Amino acid sequence: MLNLLKTHFGYDTFWSLQKEIIQNVLAQKDTLVLMPTGGGKSLCYQLPALKFPNLTIVVSPLIALMKDQVDSLRANGVGAAFINSSLAAAEIQQIQKRIENGEIKLLYLAPERLALSNFREWLKKLKLSLIAIDEAHCISEWGHDFRPDYRNLKRLRADFPNVPTIALTATATPKVQTDILTQLELRDAEIFVSSFNRSNLNYIVRPKQEAFGQLLDLLKKNRGESAIIYCFSRRDTEELAADLRKQGIEALPYHAGLPAETRRATQEKFIRDEVPVITATIAFGMGIDKPNIRLVVHFDLPKSIEGYYQETGRAGRDGLPAECVLFYSFGDKFKQDFFIRKIEDPREQSLAREKLDSVIDFCELASCRRKFLLEYFGEKSAAENCGSCDTCLTVSEKFDAAEIAQKILSCIVRTGERFGSAYVAAVLIGSRDAKIRERGHDRLSTFGIVSDFSAADLRQIIKQLVSKNLLVKAAGEYPTLSLTEHGKQFLARREKLELPKVKSAAKLQAARRTDILDFDAELFEKLRKLRKKLADEQNLPPFVIFGDRSLQEMAYCFPQSLASFGKISGVGARKLAALGEQFVNTIREYAAAKNLAERPLPMRAERHSKRANRVGSTYFQTKELLAQKLSIAEIARRRGMAESTIASHLEKLATEGESLNLEHLRPPTEEFTEIAAAFRETGEASLTPVFEKLKEKYSYEQLRMARLFLQEDL
Ligand code: ADP
Ligand code: ZN
Repeated sequence: MLNLLKTHFGYDTFWSLQKEIIQNVLAQKDTLVLMPTGGGKSLCYQLPALKFPNLTIVVSPLIALMKDQVDSLRANGVGAAFINSSLAAAEIQQIQKRIENGEIKLLYLAPERLALSNFREWLKKLKLSLIAIDEAHCISEWGHDFRPDYRNLKRLRADFPNVPTIALTATATPKVQTDILTQLELRDAEIFVSSFNRSNLNYIVRPKQEAFGQLLDLLKKNRGESAIIYCFSRRDTEELAADLRKQGIEALPYHAGLPAETRRATQEKFIRDEVPVITATIAFGMGIDKPNIRLVVHFDLPKSIEGYYQETGRAGRDGLPAECVLFYSFGDKFKQDFFIRKIEDPREQSLAREKLDSVIDFCELASCRRKFLLEYFGEKSAAENCGSCDTCLTVSEKFDAAEIAQKILSCIVRTGERFGSAYVAAVLIGSRDAKIRERGHDRLSTFGIVSDFSAADLRQIIKQLVSKNLLVKAAGEYPTLSLTEHGKQFLARREKLELPKVKSAAKLQAARRTDILDFDAELFEKLRKLRKKLADEQNLPPFVIFGDRSLQEMAYCFPQSLASFGKISGVGARKLAALGEQFVNTIREYAAAKNLAERPLPMRAERHSKRANRVGSTYFQTKELLAQKLSIAEIARRRGMAESTIASHLEKLATEGESLNLEHLRPPTEEFTEIAAAFRETGEASLTPVFEKLKEKYSYEQLRMARLFLQEDL
């Protein structure tokens, strides 16, 4: 399987669960896969399809995506095709011929095709090895994306009762899950649920102040990279795009009100790296599968956590770091409220309100945002601090909150425990709100007694008092605050209280970016240009040629032969043959001008294996220098260490199972034969007996090296 993985897809290792899923599919069992976007679902049926003797059909709802998927497979040398309404009858016939001749391993189909009896008759005559149902949640009315055409899949099951089926989705609610199992009649299906944590995404919430300036900074930081900015209204998308263009940032709007042709062209430009920034309503995103989106901004509040997770999920599908930034202002809530009040069905209205409240909770969180998201979707996450959301990245200082808490609690008591946090905060800061005057609350002793906190700060502190169980918030449309027993005690006894400082004021540290290579940015740009040129020549999106991760590895390792180029992640046999030379030439030229030597990846081993983690980075520095074919003496000199230390590093790395590039250190044959014989005679691995046996003819360092090769050669 690993062989197939490298040959056809260019990857060296499976991601979490892929191997287990593929094994289950190869055993011809039914399978259900719940995995987030970017988790690597496609491979779970594509790899088995290569191994199976007959055809695999893949049902997928999005016609626009099929072509990219098939192009990607073909670029990897896999026989793949699609049949949907975008093709002419003659083209379809041609594809059918090729399928009958066994030239195609994977056939992508739109579900509506299965309603055509002619087509089904044709299909029935074929031998199938596997049926894969992508976006399987579309079959469920409980899902957010129900598609009646998916009902046709039942017929497919009826026509091919014995062909194993794999259903895949990034929607994991239990209701949808059972719906998929029953509607698709999966038999004793093995269910694989992976974590929905997108560890390469940073979640950041910023106060919506001078948001446009903040946005410009973000886009400048990510210049040239793909970004989506979600806005509240169609008009907002157009205005924001125009404003950005005035600032020299190429941006285009996208919303459902634009002509179909404009939308298609905009999407195409985005996918082909011709326009980096799209300002959009949520209508944008379903039809795209662009792996290298580096930034997703919510310029306004999302309607639900589900929507937020899905929209941010479009960032960083390729697993490289990406940022998700939400600009939050409590006032934006009222824009949404306006629409919620218009919902007629009372049940739906209260549901919409609950969803929006969760978004507000998320924005006003004083704890880890990632943890909140995962728990919202029912996943218990162990870590309290993820190190890559703004609350975790903010230096948390505490302050003496006893006085402000007293003020808040007594204001709530004085106003009769009948109001929510916005109102309580307004009374405390002495707002001129007419409602406050009407109710006579401007005559309370707690009116206007707070001057050292803003209303927004107060709401955050109230949140914290709720989480400290001093207050409770009622559920429903009117989330009024009241004191708990604990809160009453606190007020009566004037207890002490410390709280974390309000976050909006605190400074954000740089996000931890563990997974990123320190690649050569200039070469990366050159390779990106080459990728774009080749993509245009073949009329393909650039990511079909190579992903950003592959280009980054090239711009780190400087591979200058086809052999070393073939080791880059994403370079399979087909791409090596078709593209290797052009890329290697570009790299070689650059490396020669800059006097750069090839070097191996430093990170990959650390990223994926626990074993490597135990070996501290000092060993990896040695390993890197070793890979540049330096002698032990030279490595020792550069690192300012003793030769014996370097030799011990090599031994340590070797015993930890690291693959080392040692050939240039191999002792001369005669010397090696003599030392090897001595080791064999003493029958043990210690150096001293050999040292003595050979009458001190060789140094300890020489013996160590010979011992390494003895082990290697075994
Ligand atoms: P999903 O369908 O779950 O959103 P994809 O199947 O599109 O995810 O995979 C996301 C990206 O990750 C793709 O670019 C894919 O080629 C890449 N990928 C998948 N599996 C691996 C792997 N084992 N090693 C490296 N890259 C992988
Ligand atoms: Zn966090």
